[in-house]
Amino acid sequence: MFGDQLGPHFLDGPDQPVLIVEARGVFARRRFHRAKAHLVLSAMRHRAAELGDQCVYVRGDTYGEALDGIREPVSVCHPTSHAALRFVQGRGDVEVAPVRGFATSTDEFDLWVRSRGRRRLLMEDFYRDTRRRLGVLMEGEEPAGGRWNYDADNREPPPRSATLGVAEPLWPTEDEIDEEVRHDLNRWEREGRVAFLGSDGPRRFAGTHREALATLDDFITDRLPAFGPHEDAMLSADPWMAHSLLSAPLNLGLLDPIEVIARAEDAYRGGRAPLGSVEGFIRQVIGWREFVWHLYWHLPRSYRARNELHATSPLPGWFADLDAESVDAACLSDALSGVRDHGWVHHIPRLMVLGNYALQRGWDPAEVTDWFHRAFVDGYDWVMVPNVIGMSQFADGGVMATKPYAAGGAYIDRMSDFCSNCRYDPRKRVGQDACPFTAGYWAFLHRNRERLATNPRMGRPLSGIGRLGDLEAVIEQEADRGSAAP
Ligand SMILES: Cc1cc2nc3c(=O)[nH]c(=O)nc-3n(C[C@H](O)[C@H](O)[C@H](O)COP(=O)(O)OP(=O)(O)OC[C@H]3O[C@@H](n4cnc5c(N)ncnc54)[C@H](O)[C@@H]3O)c2cc1C
Ligand code: SF4
Repeated sequence: MFGDQLGPHFLDGPDQPVLIVEARGVFARRRFHRAKAHLVLSAMRHRAAELGDQCVYVRGDTYGEALDGIREPVSVCHPTSHAALRFVQGRGDVEVAPVRGFATSTDEFDLWVRSRGRRRLLMEDFYRDTRRRLGVLMEGEEPAGGRWNYDADNREPPPRSATLGVAEPLWPTEDEIDEEVRHDLNRWEREGRVAFLGSDGPRRFAGTHREALATLDDFITDRLPAFGPHEDAMLSADPWMAHSLLSAPLNLGLLDPIEVIARAEDAYRGGRAPLGSVEGFIRQVIGWREFVWHLYWHLPRSYRARNELHATSPLPGWFADLDAESVDAACLSDALSGVRDHGWVHHIPRLMVLGNYALQRGWDPAEVTDWFHRAFVDGYDWVMVPNVIGMSQFADGGVMATKPYAAGGAYIDRMSDFCSNCRYDPRKRVGQDACPFTAGYWAFLHRNRERLATNPRMGRPLSGIGRLGDLEAVIEQEADRGSAAP
């Protein structure tokens, strides 16, 4: 099994012999977040320890080297990246079994795509059909509560309090395996074999099936009821809010998404969580997550190189290295420090702060994708390519999203408490205290006005450019800002 296929549902039976390869070369080739390296190694070593004699655990430089030393026939569930699939298919001595760990199979997705004919592949339609097919949150043929979608109720700004007021998430307890991993990572760094980003520890994300179930339990009991209404809000003193922190264990293959949504639906049916929160959460897991997975395989391999907005600037060092201290913009500094300290921030800082800033500044989408992949504990090729190239950077010209997720400071001000503690003013676009997001938004629209002109959802924003009396000053100011930390 690969390091993201670690749950019990990847095995055929309790006695199946298992090969796990710890390929260190992966960490030497790219600069990953240290907490991510820790989590992945910890999860793999924990799985090997659970399996005991049933598992052969090979530590080496590459998968190829490790497989060369194995005499028995080897099979593996369909890997999660094009590169890994090419590798196992290219060897000739590895049997590739069908995908596991997703609620919609490849055949079911293909059938759905065919049923669309020439219609656009819309997440909302995929999600509704998945709910019908799996009978999730359904009352006969109708959605529970009479509505498919509670997004409109789930976009509330944050409460006026400093935190959401839900219990802090349950954190895993580190053990001797974590200690050994930390010791090895220190040694590899000392020997100059690897270099990491960010800080490591304490481990925040579940690394075993048991820990993942405990995280799920904790979320369903204490946090799911509050998940919906403030799903899109950000609070500087509450990075976790009511989010589940399940992306890392789900992407390590430790949890089956079907068991995750069954627990959420049970909470609704048992009157322990409101429908809006439960629907919002289930939409993320069997809607967005599965849609992204299938698009990764469905779209051509060239998708990852798309760059419809011709964005070619390199990532500046302060961003690439997570140097939050050098950034005055309160929202951006907070998001970068979250990534630095945990390798995680929730969806809205990813999309509307980090991604939005990169989009506004015209940073190369492939570089942005690589950065997200390396810097986030839950980052894998399949999930990053559609989310960053498509959703966040609009580099696909509108396959994933109908319009670019570009927004000025007014959005961030409405959805967070950052602006009141920032040296910039979200209403200003010119001057010493001009908000870099507000000014950057107009500079972005102006730069891309011709490319976005045919997008029906961009008509109104683009027409706003003509009404700006200070457009030239905004553009000059933002050109001067260049790649400097705002
Ligand atoms: C630019 C950008 C990059 C992202 N990169 C990743 C990534 O590398 N890995 C990743 O798992 N998610 C990614 N996401 C999606 C989402 O932001 C994270 O899944 C979520 O923030 C993880 O925190 P959580 O588990 O507390 O999620 P919750 O808010 O509790 O949501 C529940 C679950 O829904 C799933 N989910 C929700 N949205 C998405 C989505 N768009 N794509 C895939 N799964 C989704 C996740 O499994 C998540 O655990 C990205 C989003 C953006 C905008
Ligand atoms: S004023 Fe602008 S830079 Fe400062 S926190 Fe608000 S949106 Fe971010």
